Amino acid sequence: LAVIGIDLGATKTAGLLFEGERIEQKHRLPTDASSPQGIEAGLMEICSRLIEEAAGKGLEVEALGLGIAGFIDFPRGVVTDAPNHPLHNYPVRDILQERFQVPVFVDNDGNLSALAESRMGAGKGANHLVHLTMGTGIGGGIILDGRVYRGALGAAAELGHMIIMENGPLCNCGARGCLESLVSGVAIYRRVERLAMAGEKSPLTDEFLADPACFAADDVCRHANDGNKPARDILAEAGSHLGVGIASLVNIFNPEVVTLSGGLLGCFKYMENTMRQSFGESAIPISRDHVRILTGTLGNEGGSLGAALLAISRGNC
Ligand SMILES: [Zn+2]
Repeated sequence: LAVIGIDLGATKTAGLLFEGERIEQKHRLPTDASSPQGIEAGLMEICSRLIEEAAGKGLEVEALGLGIAGFIDFPRGVVTDAPNHPLHNYPVRDILQERFQVPVFVDNDGNLSALAESRMGAGKGANHLVHLTMGTGIGGGIILDGRVYRGALGAAAELGHMIIMENGPLCNCGARGCLESLVSGVAIYRRVERLAMAGEKSPLTDEFLADPACFAADDVCRHANDGNKPARDILAEAGSHLGVGIASLVNIFNPEVVTLSGGLLGCFKYMENTMRQSFGESAIPISRDHVRILTGTLGNEGGSLGAALLAISRGNC
C-alpha cells in the first residue's frame, strides 16, 4: 500500500512516498505562501513528482495525507484558517482529490506529528500521548486511546495557547501568559530584548543591540554555551515555565508519554533541569510518576510521516 504524506510548512513543503512502513522517496520545496495559488502550485508539484516516482517503482499511490498548521475542518478537509498561510475556508481536500483521483485526508500538522511520535517515534506503542513542537511558536497534538483528539471544530490541542500565567506577557493570539508567550523562540527573543532595553550589559545584549533583526533564540543558546549567565538564566526560566505547562497537560490527560520536538530543543540542555523540577512540583503524583518526558525521534519529518499514517488509515485515526 503506497501513500503520500505532505507537510505544508510556513517556509518549506515536505513530501514523502511511504510504502510498507518505509520511506521510498522524499522531497522538500520552498513554500510560496504569497497566495492560495502559490500554495496550490507547490502542492501539485510535489504530489505529481511523488506519484510519478511511485509509478517508476511500479507502485500505485492509493491515498494522500496532508498536514497544515492551522484550523482544519477535518470531516470536510477544509482549512478554516491558517496563521502562516493566506488560506480561509479553503477546500484543499476536494482540490487535490479532483486533480489526483485518490482519497485525500487533511489534518493539523501538530496532530499529525503527535500521531507519528505515538506510532513510530519516541512514544511508539503509547495509546495516550501529548506532543509539543517548540520553535518560533509552540504547536502540539494529543493522542487519546490511540486516536487524535481534534475537538468539536478541529481547533483542539492549541497547546501553545494554554494559559499558565494570568496577566503574563502578551501572546500572538491576543491573550496573556500563554505557554507560547513564555517558552517559544519569540518569547526568548523578547526576554533578551527586555534585558537590552533595561540597559543590562553583557555579550548577549551587545549582540542583540548590534542587529536586533538578525538575532534569534539560537543565538541565546550559543551565548549559553559560552557560559553567559543571562543567557542561561533566560533558558532556565523558560524551562521552568515549560515544566508547569507539561504538568497541566499531564494532570488533565494522564498520558504515558510526552514528546518534545522543534528547533528550541537545541537549547534543551539549559531548560531540562528547571523543566523537570517545576514539573515534579506541579504534577499530580500518580500521573507524574508514570509519565515519560522524551525528546521526539522523528524531527521535522514527523508532520509528513503523520500525514502518511493518516492516509494509510483512510482518515480513521
Ligand atoms: Zn496565545
